[in-house]
Amino acid sequence: NEEKSLNFLEEIVEEDIHTGKHGGRVLTRFPPEPNGYLHIGHAKSIVLNFGLAQKYGGKTNLRFDDTNPVTEETEYVESIKNDIKWLGFQWAEELYTSDYFDTLYGYAVKLIEKGLAYVDDSTSEEIAASKGTPTESGKPTPYRDRSTEENLRLFEAMRDGKYPDGAKVLRAKIDLANPNMHLRDPLLYRIKHAHHHRTGNNWCIYPMYDFAHGQSDSIEQITHSVCTLEFVPHRPLYDWLIEQLEIFPSRQYEFARLNLNYTVMSKRKLLQLVNERYVESWDDPRMPTISGLRRRGYTPASIRNFCERIGVAKRENIIDVGLLEFCIREDLNKTAWRRMAVLDPIKLIITNYPEDNQEILVGENNPEVEGGEGERDIPFSRELWIEREDFMEIPPKKFFRLAPGLMVRLKHAYIVKCEDFVKDTAGNVTEVHCVYIPESKSGEDTSGIKVKGTIHWVSVPHAKTVEVRLYDRLFNVENPAADENFKTTINPDSLQIIENAYIEPDLLNAVPGKGYQFIRKGYFTLDTKSTPENPVFNRTVTLRDTWAK
Ligand code: ATP
Ligand code: MG
Ligand code: MG
Repeated sequence: NEEKSLNFLEEIVEEDIHTGKHGGRVLTRFPPEPNGYLHIGHAKSIVLNFGLAQKYGGKTNLRFDDTNPVTEETEYVESIKNDIKWLGFQWAEELYTSDYFDTLYGYAVKLIEKGLAYVDDSTSEEIAASKGTPTESGKPTPYRDRSTEENLRLFEAMRDGKYPDGAKVLRAKIDLANPNMHLRDPLLYRIKHAHHHRTGNNWCIYPMYDFAHGQSDSIEQITHSVCTLEFVPHRPLYDWLIEQLEIFPSRQYEFARLNLNYTVMSKRKLLQLVNERYVESWDDPRMPTISGLRRRGYTPASIRNFCERIGVAKRENIIDVGLLEFCIREDLNKTAWRRMAVLDPIKLIITNYPEDNQEILVGENNPEVEGGEGERDIPFSRELWIEREDFMEIPPKKFFRLAPGLMVRLKHAYIVKCEDFVKDTAGNVTEVHCVYIPESKSGEDTSGIKVKGTIHWVSVPHAKTVEVRLYDRLFNVENPAADENFKTTINPDSLQIIENAYIEPDLLNAVPGKGYQFIRKGYFTLDTKSTPENPVFNRTVTLRDTWAK
């Protein structure tokens, strides 16, 4: 009695289990190419593939699709594994397409022997030209009718390094008139004399995606191979290869990829942002990468929840990044410990508070949870830092903060009344002078005074100085990828650094990844690259949606 209706993939899996296909077994895979860090789009694929298997008692393989030696690196492999684990998923087996290079070579030989593949000496331009157009049939190149013996000999010579890059390719021999361009004798292998991050210099020919992917699914006996919609036209080739090779009948299913506004999600573009120093690194908190979101303070639960909320569709759409922000806010509202920090300080002096006195007040960690998850000590003294915006010389109506004659409560402390203020020669307010009501202490208030506003503060002699980084969207337009030069749409104000913010001392115990609500200011986490000498806090998200569209 599931409340939620099934998505179309769940329906397919349930039907397959029902009919006893593959003995009711479910094995999915997540197949990243190790040519960059994972992004939020990959998270959708991870949640989908692992989630589908988990729901039906199956398993998921992690398969590195490492058939392109030039762009792939071990650093990416490590980051991908780390990100999947952090998201909360565990793969059954860690596999590499490159481990199948021998098997794939054997498959290619089998196709040649069946008269279904040939070595073509044409250049890539000649091949492209001979393929025709969707409305016009292609023409055979002069190499299409080579004998099986000749093809076998040439393919072996390709493998043995007898030819330079681009001199020859292996093509499937299917149908040059097929309306589906992917079936017009697609490339299976190309020559590339390049060092591979795992197989070193063992190979100088590499299988194309279409020849490696389905065959790897088959080798692993994947039951449901889930990929994004761009691969719909590849499916007939996927099926043709499996059928001709007479190997395990994996099936491909397609869903709409995640598109998110105000960001880019192609690894090639993200790499440009890193290489050209628009951002600090792949894990810059403005990046849509999993590692960037983690460093920004997103939790695994919030990302999983986001992926589940957007659901699985068969039609392309663009998701508002506001939904992602909603998901982290919802999570942090329940889990973040409340603390006080002043980002734009001016001094408040309590003129009737004894000069050498101080008190230790207490504040609960989390008012959203029964018992508050304990409490922390908050030192209080005669001089406090408050936010500049919490004082106005001439306030508008309904300004429930400080101005001459107005009263507020200091959070977890006393009610104060503003009596005076001091300006510097430039006219900026530097000090706000108040008196406090001794009987108004939080939790034991007998003053009978009601005030409308509560403000946060940090005791001057106890305050710790930290750097705070406020992030905004990395791009100024909804769909930066649509722009010819997407980098011209970068938001120049995506990072604001506050070098001297004041925090209450307990925040020195903060650890990266744990969320804190700086009361009235937003959710923050300690930066992973922060040091005890120079603590840095990243703003994860504001308290409310303050993004002006
Ligand atoms: P990019 O274009 O950014 O390089 P990719 O699709 O080439 O992405 P892969 O490493 O091949 O990246 O992707 C691994 C898996 O993640 C694939 O199954 C792919 O379909 C899926 N994936 C990638 N991007 C998205 C996305 N935006 N939404 C959903 N799934 C995605
Ligand atoms: Mg890919
Ligand atoms: Mg790619």
